[in-house]
Amino acid sequence: MKTVIEAQDIILDRIDLSVVEQVPVTESLGRVLAEDVHSNRNHPPYDISAMDGYALKFADIDGATRDEPVILKVVDDIRAGTMPSVSVGSGEASRIMTGAPVPDGADTVIRVEDTSGSGENVKILVPSGEGANIRLLGENLKVDDKLLKAGTEITPAALGTLAMVKYAEVPVFRRPTVAILSTGDELEALGEPFDETKIPDANSYTVMAELKALGIDATLLGIARDTREELAEKLREGMEYDVLIVSGGVSVGHHDFVRPCLEELGIRMLFWRVALRPGHPFAFGAGEGENSTLVFGLPGNPVSSMVCCVQFIVPALRKMMGKGNLYRGTFEARLGASVKDREGRLHFMRVKVENTPEGRVVRSTGSQGSGILMSMVEADALMVVPASRASLEEGEVVTVQPLNDIFYQSEPGFKGE
Ligand code: AMP
Ligand code: MG
Repeated sequence: MKTVIEAQDIILDRIDLSVVEQVPVTESLGRVLAEDVHSNRNHPPYDISAMDGYALKFADIDGATRDEPVILKVVDDIRAGTMPSVSVGSGEASRIMTGAPVPDGADTVIRVEDTSGSGENVKILVPSGEGANIRLLGENLKVDDKLLKAGTEITPAALGTLAMVKYAEVPVFRRPTVAILSTGDELEALGEPFDETKIPDANSYTVMAELKALGIDATLLGIARDTREELAEKLREGMEYDVLIVSGGVSVGHHDFVRPCLEELGIRMLFWRVALRPGHPFAFGAGEGENSTLVFGLPGNPVSSMVCCVQFIVPALRKMMGKGNLYRGTFEARLGASVKDREGRLHFMRVKVENTPEGRVVRSTGSQGSGILMSMVEADALMVVPASRASLEEGEVVTVQPLNDIFYQSEPGFKGE
């Protein structure tokens, strides 16, 4: 039986970066750049004013005060987007707006609040410093500067930077195509008539939703009954995708045909059990030769299935998308009430997280049955209980993996001043 880390390593070792494609910049959020991006321009393209005010020669106004202002003749009115028509001479100033080019002859901008008068003359009341309020050519971007490295995840700021250098189309790593299949005679599909003797399919949807958070729209293949024929047919359909995720039927039950059927389709199973709770019948295989589909076999129990999806499938898909950080983040918290556990396998225990003035405190959500999906609804995070521990004590520092947006909170967390 593999440990969680061994299983993650085996999976990640099988993954090559996927193909590069061009996407419109507006669709590129969350994707990963496949090439370095350099600046094709200077920005600003010339020295510009950082303020609404007057462009002038500092030597003219050095020493100006409110009581003894310097009076200059206004020779031009420069708006952002227009070029100055005259240069500034001694005893002169050009009215200038934020973002407008600084005219020849001027070396300083005095903001409008430090002046008075609005006609042909302006009184300078405060001198500022020489060179004040001017943004220099290329201060923001310089031609040929490397702006974004291949491998950068496209955040809102990176997306804006791509737009600034006119990348209407952006080279990114392709997202993998993924199919999801649930198996089991007892399962009832969402669209089927209600039958109280059946078990509604949940796993197709929890897994689909985890993948949506990565921007992947998986194809749902539906439910395969536990017969070799039906399984083989559905699994063959799944071979058309980069990744096939099958839930149920991977343990050692009499009707668990998933493994032998996959092997018949040329998938080599690399492991089928991992030392974790919940989720130990978790399988991974990969196609050889022409068929390069990666296959993940999830346990049928809905909580196990979700936990394995987060620990194993999400990192794999992130790697395929070219992302650098593959693993769900962890943080440390204090345990609010002691818990009993069984030794032997790493346990991802469902917990609630509370933000207190002394830091984060976690408590078990209660029953940890692997079939109780509501316990995942109530949980904010998974607490990692090492395989060697049979209990954890109140007050211990524990490692926690967030499930949802727990980095949002009910209060701003800082004062307004
Ligand atoms: P299995 O791994 O096929 O032995 O299934 C283990 C348990 O999970 C059984 O109680 C199944 O009914 C349940 N189960 C299997 N697949 C699903 C599914 N797609 N949605 C919800 N429960 C499931
Ligand atoms: Mg089954």
